[in-house]
Amino acid sequence: MKILVPVKRVVDYNVKIRVKPGGTGIDLANVKMSMNPFDEIAVEEAVRIKEKGGSSEIVAVSIGPAKAQETIRTALAIGADRGIHIETPDGALVEPLAVAKLLKSVVDAEKPDLVILGKQAIDDDCNQTGQMLAGLLGWPQGTFASKVVLDEGSVHVTREVDGGLETLKLKMPAVVTTDLRLNEPRYPSLPNIMNAKKKPLETKKPDDFGVDIAPRLKVQNTTEPTTRKAGVRVDSVAELVEKLKTEAGVL
Ligand code: AMP
Repeated sequence: MKILVPVKRVVDYNVKIRVKPGGTGIDLANVKMSMNPFDEIAVEEAVRIKEKGGSSEIVAVSIGPAKAQETIRTALAIGADRGIHIETPDGALVEPLAVAKLLKSVVDAEKPDLVILGKQAIDDDCNQTGQMLAGLLGWPQGTFASKVVLDEGSVHVTREVDGGLETLKLKMPAVVTTDLRLNEPRYPSLPNIMNAKKKPLETKKPDDFGVDIAPRLKVQNTTEPTTRKAGVRVDSVAELVEKLKTEAGVL
C-alpha cells in the first residue's frame, strides 16, 4: 500500500510574524522556516502505519520554492521513502485550489491508496487543500483525524467534531487530514537525517502537469493584530466597580 503525504514549508510556529511596511504581505527575510506542524503529524502517521506493516511506500510531495526540498528532506528523515518537489518561483503564493490540482496530478501518476495531509497550513490557515483534493479525485475524505485505523481495503477515521468524536469508515483510496491529537511526531535521529540525503527526490514544474498556478484571489491588505492595552492594578473593590461603571461601561 502506498501513502502520499503532502508537506508544506511554512514560517516556523515559534516566529513572530512581521508585516511588511505598507501592509503588502509578510516579511520573510531571514525568517526561520519549517515543515507545517500538521504535516509532521501526517508524516509520522504514515511512518507508524508503515512500521506496523500497513504500508510499503511513503512518498512526500511539496509544492514551493527551491528551499521546499529541505522540508521534503525532513519528511525523508522522519521515515518517508522518496520525495517529489514541484518547484514554483520564489515568492509565488500558490493557492489551495492550484495545490489540490497539482496533487491530483501526482495522485494520478503515483496511484497511492491513501493521501494524508495536514488539516491546515499554519501560514494561510486555509483548511481547504485536503477537501478540494478529495473533491477533484471523487474520493472519500476523513478530515480532522484524531485516530486512523486501517482495515481490509478501508480506513476508520475518528474525527474531532463539535462536542465529541465521530468515526467514519472510508473505502480506500481515500483522503485523510490530520488534527493535533493524532500523534506526537518523533524527532529524526542524526543517522536518519544523514540517510535522508541519499533518498530519491524528483523535481518537477507546475507546467509538467499543465496546471496554471496564477492566483485567483487578490490580497488587499495585511495588518498586524491590534495590540492589547496594558492592564492597570486597582487598590480596592470600590475602585474596580467605579472603573467598570465609568471606564469599561459594563455595569
Ligand atoms: P491549507 O488548505 O493551505 O490550509 O493546507 C492544508 C494541507 O494541504 C497542508 O497541511 C498540507 O498537507 C497540504 N498543502 C498545502 N499547501 C501545500 C504545498 N504548497 N505543498 C505541499 N502540501 C501542501
